[in-house]
Amino acid sequence: MTRANWRRFCVLAIGALAISVGAAIPLQAQDKIDVIASFSILGDFASNVGGDRTRVTTLVGADSDVHVYTPAPADAKKIAGARLLIINGLGLEGWLPRLVQSSGGKAAIATATTGIPARKSGSGADPHAWQSVANAKIYVTNIRDALAAADPAGAEIYRANADAYLANLDALDREVREAIMQIPSARRKVISTHDAFGYFADAYGVAFIAPQGVSTESEVSARDIAAVIIQIRAGKIPAVFLENIVDVRLMRRIAEETGARIGGRLYSDSLTGEKGDAPTYIELVRHNIKVLTSALTN
Ligand code: ZN
Repeated sequence: MTRANWRRFCVLAIGALAISVGAAIPLQAQDKIDVIASFSILGDFASNVGGDRTRVTTLVGADSDVHVYTPAPADAKKIAGARLLIINGLGLEGWLPRLVQSSGGKAAIATATTGIPARKSGSGADPHAWQSVANAKIYVTNIRDALAAADPAGAEIYRANADAYLANLDALDREVREAIMQIPSARRKVISTHDAFGYFADAYGVAFIAPQGVSTESEVSARDIAAVIIQIRAGKIPAVFLENIVDVRLMRRIAEETGARIGGRLYSDSLTGEKGDAPTYIELVRHNIKVLTSALTN
């Protein structure tokens, strides 16, 4: 064998070995690591990091409101059988502690927002930290570490999956910044239904005003609505936006009274189903910046 041939043989042999080791790694369906995420956006992060090695189930599914969720008996069963439960924290899942207690399960609990400086809103923390892509990267590293702790044999896989996904999030963050740059700075202000975009506002320099607070649990009073109408007129705010998880009638009324146009639908706290505009976190952010730029640049 010539030296070149020998080298080629070695490369092939190592390649074949790597493939056979790789082929041994995927787990059978019954051996997959059961992971529960409290809501759809966390479920997407967990699926990206866990890949084929995990079976990720979300409690609050697509197009549903995590603030006001009522757990079903089936949810306690899901938690009871899981290795890991991933939550947002910052007060988002007020309904969760009782559910975990009633499940009697032994799942490790990971708080995905650990290490993120919480934005204050009114009397408490603003839980919508995922709306900044830089924060989403912290969610992903926390989920990676929690999966590795719950399933040490899969640590290398989780690290590789997380690295690939984090690179996509870096690209996404650049995309958001470039899109916002296209909007004249005087027009970077919008009305959303509930106060879900504070982290986005802080990270990317778009002002958001909402008649409803950081939780959809709070009632919107006539005074809240009147205050927003005054702000729209005084600030010449060009557009109001609808959300998938809350009633759209309020925003239609505000648009009618002020002449602000309806800029479209922003996705705040929930992904859509497969056929919707935002079946993944990356598509959710892309959809939102597309809607914002098209409503605010024209
Ligand atoms: Zn919310």
